[in-house]
Amino acid sequence: MTQSKLPKKSICKWDKSTLAHALPLLAEQIRSAEFICRKCGRSAAEKRLLCKAVRMDSLSDTKA
Ligand SMILES: [Zn+2]
Repeated sequence: MTQSKLPKKSICKWDKSTLAHALPLLAEQIRSAEFICRKCGRSAAEKRLLCKAVRMDSLSDTKA
């Protein structure tokens, strides 16, 4: 087994090979995502994984 740890850098900066090996972990992140990157549209459970993270909460409610 290779390591199954999330890379330290943000998802936004992962290259292809990083993405390939960490994909299952990324799936977990997305499943329980609370943050979205307002620059690149990626989502994650942990703020540190996104370059411009914003809480999805803060977007979903009322700006109407
Ligand atoms: Zn980003």
